[in-house]
Amino acid sequence: MDDLNFGTRDKRGHYIPNGRLELAPIWSFPPKVLKLLKWLPGYFFPWNAFLALTAVAYWHFIIPDRSVLAHLTWSWPLILFAANAASLFVVYGFFELNMFVLKRQGTRFKYNNLFPGEQKSDVFISGNQNIDNALRTFLISIPLWTAVEVLVLWAFANGYVPWLTFTENPWKLAIVALIVPLIHETHFYAIHRLIHTPFLYKWVHSIHHNSVNPSPWSSLSMHPLEALLYFSVGVWHLILPSNPLIALYQLNTAGLGAFIGHLGFDRIEVTEASAFGSHAYSHYLHHKHFEVNYADGVMPFDHIFGSYHDGTKEADERMKVRFRKKKERIAAKLAKLAKQNAQ
Ligand SMILES: [Zn+2]
Ligand SMILES: [Zn+2]
Repeated sequence: MDDLNFGTRDKRGHYIPNGRLELAPIWSFPPKVLKLLKWLPGYFFPWNAFLALTAVAYWHFIIPDRSVLAHLTWSWPLILFAANAASLFVVYGFFELNMFVLKRQGTRFKYNNLFPGEQKSDVFISGNQNIDNALRTFLISIPLWTAVEVLVLWAFANGYVPWLTFTENPWKLAIVALIVPLIHETHFYAIHRLIHTPFLYKWVHSIHHNSVNPSPWSSLSMHPLEALLYFSVGVWHLILPSNPLIALYQLNTAGLGAFIGHLGFDRIEVTEASAFGSHAYSHYLHHKHFEVNYADGVMPFDHIFGSYHDGTKEADERMKVRFRKKKERIAAKLAKLAKQNAQ
């Protein structure tokens, strides 16, 4: 497929999709019904429907009975850990293998025209982005994901929070299931802003940002504190009226779904003539510019707080003005402090 029918390349060969990112039309007032109807299928397909299905599969094949979940032993948490590691390996590995190792679609639709493996960098412990990221994923993030999952299931099984059933509360649970992606983004935005504060950025979140040119293995490459904050999204289901299956969907969205923003390609080619949108651009821009798009564009936080980047040149200019003003504010503060110290 010719990606230049859908975008352009800058001087450095970086791919820029045509058009601009737009806030989800659920926030338009007065409502734009046609736009909403056009947007809605993309909210479910392919990613959220796929993640919900993984939770159903977990529920049927991996999660034991309530009486087993009620006891904190080693056996079922270890099986859950193995399931998380295996499913992540299959899902992330599929995209890594096809798009980054076998390079089946070359650099077509790839935002950064280089592949992470082609760039040696001393910011990574092993000198290689992929190895460093995969190690952090399997040794830090998946164990913490599983730990939160175990605690949430255990709390449900013991009746510490109400376990709503689908037969008695179909509407309540349908609404909670429907807003799982919104809960994810709200939680992510909150912890993401927190870990972008100078101290936490330096000691915690900078690890994730070492991947300036991300690939799926970058997704869960995190400091343990970031991973813990990130996966604590499961706790929302101990507060909201919910059910452990929906909590699993929430945690799979965080664990198995994190690769979506890190795909590095704007479209995924299915055949020579067809491709579907990846939804990766918003978070790619975050990895590129650091202080834009803390959320993903379904929730309006970046719009409200002025950090939205819609991928256009105008947004680039607005961002530069914002960064310059921030620098000036810091410089003025430092000058004031220096003056006070001199007195
Ligand atoms: Zn990221
Ligand atoms: Zn960040």
